[in-house]
Amino acid sequence: MTQRQKDETIIHRPQIVAVDDDWFDVQKVSNRLYTISEPRHYEHTVMNLLVGKQHAVLIDTGCGIGNLSRVVEQLTNLPVTVVNTHTHLDHLGSNHQFSDIIMFDHPNSRNVSQNGALKEDFVRELLDEKFVTPPWPRSFELASTTLPPFKVSRWIKHEDILELGDICLKVLHTPGEASDHICLLEQNDRILFTGDILLHGAVWSHLDGGDIEELSHSYELLMQYYDEIDFLMPSHNTSCLEKNLLPIALAGVKEILDGNVVPRQGKDAWGRFYNEYDFGRISILTRQLSR
Ligand SMILES: [Zn+2]
Repeated sequence: MTQRQKDETIIHRPQIVAVDDDWFDVQKVSNRLYTISEPRHYEHTVMNLLVGKQHAVLIDTGCGIGNLSRVVEQLTNLPVTVVNTHTHLDHLGSNHQFSDIIMFDHPNSRNVSQNGALKEDFVRELLDEKFVTPPWPRSFELASTTLPPFKVSRWIKHEDILELGDICLKVLHTPGEASDHICLLEQNDRILFTGDILLHGAVWSHLDGGDIEELSHSYELLMQYYDEIDFLMPSHNTSCLEKNLLPIALAGVKEILDGNVVPRQGKDAWGRFYNEYDFGRISILTRQLSR
């Protein structure tokens, strides 16, 4: 291991970082990685902030509930570039608060950047009172929530390398939960930012744009990089996951596709029926015909 890698090895017990904000929790996970999470939202959204020597990169912008840019300003003075893992609203809710945004080139990303999203979209997907544990943050006004159109500075494609100072991210197109989903492999720190497809909890391939076979191909693609990864940083729930979750998820998806596992049937908060296949730390939801 080089000195640089030693310096940037993950801190096993993340340190809580005090910020002047009543909505986000911030933790320092390594010398240059912070998690910024929304623990009172039912999805426990996690944004990751990499702070390099010349540049900072914010992966995802959460639900748009608190003042995210103000929190980021408390953590770094460096120029900040946002990269979104996909276009679900809980991953780009505060994009309009940032001026430098990189997105995967996909019709969904083009559409949301040009048109934004309406208050009704946010309320339906995220902001209904049943999804949030009160109190709402001081500065938040539900009545005026929208995502205005925002400018994308760079469109990226599969296998692009984003070099932002000493931060080096490889873009990996990984559909399965959303057709525009990407994972980002930080090649110096050996971290895979996994968005919504590898996490502790449920991976939702039952959504529009989700597909269990594509999810299987995405896990196979990520396995090609297995030796370049030390740990996983997802966009929901618990952070700093061991990388062996990836082969567990891949084996699970193959069992589903081979018809070898019995699902539990359920219905999500929006009335969509799903089959849930449980593999311990991770479960996978697939579509079920409506009844
Ligand atoms: Zn999500």
